[in-house]
Amino acid sequence: MMRIALLGATGSIGASTLDVVARHPDRFRVHALSAHCNVGALIERCRQFDPAWAVIADPAHAGALQEGLREAGLATRVATGPQGLVEVAQDGEVDCVVAAIVGAAGLESTLAAARAGKRLLLANKESVVMAGPLLKAALSEGGGELLPLDSEHNAVFQCLPAGREDLRGAGVRRIILTASGGPFRGRKRAELAAVTADMACAHPKWSMGRKISVDSATLMNKGLEVIEAHLLFGAAAADIDVVVHPQSIIHSLVEYCDGSVLAQLGNPDMRTAIAHALGWPARIEAGVAPLNLVEIARLEFEVPDRATFRCLDLAYQVLAAGGCAPIVLNAANEEAVSAFLAGRLPFLAIDAVIESCLQQLPAGAHESVAEILDSDLTARREAQRIIAAMAG
Ligand code: NAD
Ligand code: MG
Repeated sequence: MMRIALLGATGSIGASTLDVVARHPDRFRVHALSAHCNVGALIERCRQFDPAWAVIADPAHAGALQEGLREAGLATRVATGPQGLVEVAQDGEVDCVVAAIVGAAGLESTLAAARAGKRLLLANKESVVMAGPLLKAALSEGGGELLPLDSEHNAVFQCLPAGREDLRGAGVRRIILTASGGPFRGRKRAELAAVTADMACAHPKWSMGRKISVDSATLMNKGLEVIEAHLLFGAAAADIDVVVHPQSIIHSLVEYCDGSVLAQLGNPDMRTAIAHALGWPARIEAGVAPLNLVEIARLEFEVPDRATFRCLDLAYQVLAAGGCAPIVLNAANEEAVSAFLAGRLPFLAIDAVIESCLQQLPAGAHESVAEILDSDLTARREAQRIIAAMAG
């Protein structure tokens, strides 16, 4: 029986994870669930999965959670705040941690799970972008394993030879990440001036949380994924390419030196990657409809429009700059997306905020979590200042 801590249980990845888990009561037991502040949704999931722990990240809602669990007749105990997340991530009774919190808020619990040697199912790409080398060190210290949930990285993981350390030595020439192109594929900048948050969140192929949906619309999601691929697989930036594939059937590809290209295909449904990572190395049922190639009929590919969607190049730039630059990019992006979602920043200003943050702040080195968090905070303040100046 694998005992799971699901961090970010009320989100989109959280829901897909619980859907897969519920199909295998003989394999998985939910030990802990977490939410930011949605007490009602968390209690609902506790009713269904009866975990030992429920963590509410915003302590202001702890009382309501406690009361709701008691009314529901559940013995689930309550933990709170970032410390509560870290505690369940390293709990001795947990075998597997699903890191499905959105944004930098997932960093410390992800690192804690790695350090404690858990099987880490990683959806929270922001923590890799912020702290890739520290995360790798924590994984080798803990002796656990990381299985990527991001569909592209899960696809690459499936296409790489097992046990590889050195990609070149294994004959890998290139990693090709596919991108759907998002809801605004084909549009030019002039056509994007007035797009709203709801338009940006109406993704043609994937149903996801609002932050990653906006990231898909700006192509920052692909930018973060290029950085994630570099850090997870050790590929040089020059060996990671992006191709737009509007059908989202091929989730990514690995090219070998003999000319072979291996791809992973499937319907765009996160339950495939989640079931792969939960069951690995076994294959388990995910509830995903079989792929009907004849019905799909056509798989198309195009180059990304980097002049319209400038965030992709910004991500390659921070990869070349190294040091704190990826932390600044991530923090500025989180602030800009949040302002856009709140109607305080136009869509086309998102890349401008990030770019000017990168120009203002030095890309110095960092060595500890404290330094990473410090750089994150400084970048957020700078981004907020730029956003306020733009609005004023
Ligand atoms: P979501 O917005 O649907 O859910 C986010 C979860 O994080 C919720 O449970 C929320 O309660 C929790 N959360 C938010 N802020 C928090 C905070 N400050 N402290 C603690 N918890 C907090 O997001 P999602 O779409 O499920 O994405 C989650 C992560 O997975 C993101 O990093 C995203 O990039 C990644 N991802 C998502 C998908 C997808 O299909 N949704 C695909 C690939 C990767
Ligand atoms: Mg992805």
